[in-house]
Formats: sequence, C-alpha cells, structure tokens
Amino acid sequence: MTSQDIAQIVSEHLLDVPDFPEEGVLFKDVTPLIAHAEAFNAVIGDMADRHRGEVDVVAGIEARGFIFGAAVAHELGLGFVPVRKAGKLPGQTAKVSYQLEYGSATIEIKADGIPVGSRVLLIDDVLATGGTAAAAFDLIEQVGAQVAGFDVVIELLSLSGRDRLRTAGREVHAQLSV
Ligand code: AMP
Repeated sequence: MTSQDIAQIVSEHLLDVPDFPEEGVLFKDVTPLIAHAEAFNAVIGDMADRHRGEVDVVAGIEARGFIFGAAVAHELGLGFVPVRKAGKLPGQTAKVSYQLEYGSATIEIKADGIPVGSRVLLIDDVLATGGTAAAAFDLIEQVGAQVAGFDVVIELLSLSGRDRLRTAGREVHAQLSV
C-alpha cells in the first residue's frame, strides 16, 4: 500500500468536529477509523512496517496514542510504554512540564519503564502545535533512551508542529497532513 493509499484511508474515516472540546477547535475524531477493521488494520500495519526491526519498544501518548501505539507494539512483537498525564502512574516517575495556551501540563513515564539505550517508537494520533510531542521526546531522553521514530496519524499543518520539532532536530511522519 502506498503512502497516498494510507492518506486516503485516514481521510475517508476521519470525522471533523467543529468547536469541540471548546469553541474554535476543529477536533479530529479518529473513532470511526479505529472502529473500521480494514482501515484500522491498514493504519497499524503501515506504522509497524515503517519501523520493523529498527525499534526496541513503542511508547504512546495519552490517550489516543495508547490505542495506536499498543496495536503497533503488538504487531511488532514489542512491549508498550504509556506516556501519561500527571498523577496517573504509581511508583517513581520521570516528569516533563510544558506550556499550553493557557497554563501548563505535565506528562510522566515510569522511571524504569524504558531500558537505558532503547530505541523508542513514539506514537500519537494528532500532531497540533507539537508541544506535547516535544515534551514526550524530552521525557524519553531524560530516562536515557532515544526516539528512533515519531509517527502520528494526522498532522495539522496550520499549527506548525513539524517546524517546532525540526528546530530541535526532531522529525515526524504523518499518515495524513491536512
Ligand atoms: P499539541 O501538543 O498542540 O501538538 O497537541 C497534541 C495533543 O492534543 C495530541 O495528543 C492530540 O490527541 C490532541 N489534539 C490537539 N489538537 C487536536 C485536534 N484538533 N483534534 C484532535 N486531537 C487534538
């Protein structure tokens, strides 16, 4: 399947929801995509094939990154590590805080969740401003691992997340750029 085929599948099974969860946001709802067996399989297979043999563990960003990330990990025969919002993980954690439009947010992983030196495939559903992704890269590096790939299903071009990551020498692959 070509990257155009995948982009077409994603775009056909994506729902645009205006003004959700707040006024002015065009929410990209991936629930129709994950509910459709063939589309979900195609998206997961494509993400897995792009990294097969080149990563040691898969990390997914809460919450929809868990759905895609865990499925890709299973497909690759690898383990899965959740990048969670603050306060959800028991035991010792590594934390990174980052700025939101209003206020700030913190994400965490288990301090011993990823062996030092691991090549991590990081996954999320949507790349918007790139703030969450940049924090997740920092978090993975903080525990001594490296992000060997960062894949999202959808990239929102108008919010320039890709440019923000690139200024820090980081790359992203999006199945659909809109
Ligand atoms: P950002 O940090 O601005 O790149 O936002 C990325 C995170 O917020 C991802 O975990 C997405 O799931 C979520 N997100 C941001 N904007 C949208 C959107 N328009 N539709 C769906 N999810 C979004």
